[in-house]
Amino acid sequence: MRQRAIHSFCASLVLASFLSGAQASDLPSVEQAAEDFPFPVLESASPEQAPRYPYLSPVTDDKIDWPPLFKQPEPVLSDGPKRVPSHHVSEMDQLPPVPEIAIVIDDVGYNRRGMEETLALPLQVVLAILPETPYAKKAAHKAYLQQRATILHAPMENQRALKLGPGGLYQSMDEQAFKQALRTDLDNVPHVRGANNHMGSLLTTRPDHMNWVMDIMAERSLFFIDSLTSADSVAYQTAKERGVKTLTRDVFLDNVRTDEAINQQFERLLAKAHKYGHALAIGHPYPETTAYLKRRLAEPLSAQLVEVERLLE
Ligand SMILES: [Zn+2]
Repeated sequence: MRQRAIHSFCASLVLASFLSGAQASDLPSVEQAAEDFPFPVLESASPEQAPRYPYLSPVTDDKIDWPPLFKQPEPVLSDGPKRVPSHHVSEMDQLPPVPEIAIVIDDVGYNRRGMEETLALPLQVVLAILPETPYAKKAAHKAYLQQRATILHAPMENQRALKLGPGGLYQSMDEQAFKQALRTDLDNVPHVRGANNHMGSLLTTRPDHMNWVMDIMAERSLFFIDSLTSADSVAYQTAKERGVKTLTRDVFLDNVRTDEAINQQFERLLAKAHKYGHALAIGHPYPETTAYLKRRLAEPLSAQLVEVERLLE
């Protein structure tokens, strides 16, 4: 109440000084005035004194005795359709969420054609670059200039003893050697935002090694995509347990390198996206794959192509 009185007083003071031309220095201090000044006249006007016409009624919490003419209609209670609150209407008006697809092209770095054709695909397509390959650095740099995401395609031991190439990670390595090799691979491909496994049907089933991978991912704030080259892979699970952002591959686009087979896999990708909300495809820089994607991604799709980072779990 005292605060209110001071405010009202200040307002009348301003008015008074305007009317009388008084100087600010002539006026009492606010503290003094609050103690001495009589309660302002306007403040003392009570709502009861105001006319009781509804359209002129003062703002008050007191219940007003409305004349019959202005009686509010009683709310109608019926079994009719329930009215939906307005804030729900906007949600209902929204279209259902569009399914999302992401595409990663593995094994980039061995040849110029593969690099150039994948760099010509839409910018949402992510390149997974093999370390220490002839075009690794160039592909990484060009993608970076395009603001396209790249990841390290980390070569991991497989069950068929297929050659891994440079920078390979093997289960025979001890923790120190393993981590050092992975760090060197990452250093070899600048600007990467994550990693996935090249091959790895053996290594991704080894919890210890996957824990070491996730140590490095966490150390560098990178995500890890499980290419899922073995049904027994623990990479995704280990990443989740360790708080590393992750995702698993849903579809390989080009295990069979014909336009028809790639198209069939692309349709599977779309079907999975419609079923689960999103789906991830992995392809390779084969001429058949890049030609197919160049054509297909320029057409209207029933799902939205997004960057893989959008789908991370
Ligand atoms: Zn690969």
